[in-house]
Amino acid sequence: LKSIAVMTSGGDSPGMNAAARAVVRTALYEGVKVWGIRDGYHGLLEEDMFEMKSKDVGDIIQRGGTFLGTARCNRWKTPEGRMLGYQHLVDRGIQGLCVIGGDGSLRGASLLSQETGIPIVGLPGTIDNDVWGSDYTIGCDTAANTIIDAINKLRDTASAHRRVIVMEVMGRSSGWLALVSGISGGAEYILVPESPFDLDKICEDMKVAYQEGKRYILVVVAEGAGSGQEIGDYIAKKTELDTRVSVLGHIQRGGSPSVIDRVRASQLGEQAALALISGLSDIVFGFSKGRVVSIDLHDSVNNKKKLDPEYLHLAKVLF
Ligand code: ATP
Repeated sequence: LKSIAVMTSGGDSPGMNAAARAVVRTALYEGVKVWGIRDGYHGLLEEDMFEMKSKDVGDIIQRGGTFLGTARCNRWKTPEGRMLGYQHLVDRGIQGLCVIGGDGSLRGASLLSQETGIPIVGLPGTIDNDVWGSDYTIGCDTAANTIIDAINKLRDTASAHRRVIVMEVMGRSSGWLALVSGISGGAEYILVPESPFDLDKICEDMKVAYQEGKRYILVVVAEGAGSGQEIGDYIAKKTELDTRVSVLGHIQRGGSPSVIDRVRASQLGEQAALALISGLSDIVFGFSKGRVVSIDLHDSVNNKKKLDPEYLHLAKVLF
């Protein structure tokens, strides 16, 4: 192909900038025109796009968020909306599209490709690490590091007061962020939607642990497993232990991307541009066992990713 476009869509995540930068610079290096679309599918429908030069992606690799902007767009869920977006690409001679976003964004991309045949390559951009076929999504590493930082601080104050700390973390229906941050933050309990838990039993165990002299207990709750506040209230009522709840919220989405997110996002962006230029389509690039892999776009959106059983087991062993 001789002209491609890139957009970011859905929730922003740290490293999206590095990915878009790599798409742009790889395309230019290969002598291919590249367009940036602002605000995801919304911007495509509003024709908010511009041809990009190398300097347009300067000074962004270190920034969180996405310089292209992102949005949710309900019109994209209709065939008419997608056809209009396709027309806006054709009007500009754009022959292929790279969509960087979460599973919803990739679903929108999969439909566009099926309906119009335009070459599409997706990159998994979400802190949730919930895209099937890849054990990594752009931004999950930075978000996990942000959570660890918060856990470290909460531990200091919890140990000073002999408290139960309940921390709710993001992840939508995935427990990945809770699991890895709980393991690396040394949480006593990690509650994830993928694995059943018995809160009454946990409360009983907590009371015993305190009687035996435990100074504090940290519970990490994935948002998909329940509300941190409700779980904290329940623990306080059942155990009569001093319990505090912390909901980390959107802080987890922000921040300068980690080295891993910058390097991996750059690798994925390069592969996405090269694939589009050579006419490939319907692919998501991700990572498996530390290496870049290509995944069928439709398989990726039609399957639900499972949590790594080895991590789940490790969490039990280390508790
Ligand atoms: P994150 O999980 O990080 O929030 P996401 O990409 O999953 O990211 P969504 O809000 O689910 O975020 O999707 C982003 C956009 O993708 C939607 O606003 C919509 O334009 C498009 N999209 C989502 N689901 C579909 C669908 N089923 N059909 C067509 N388009 C969709």
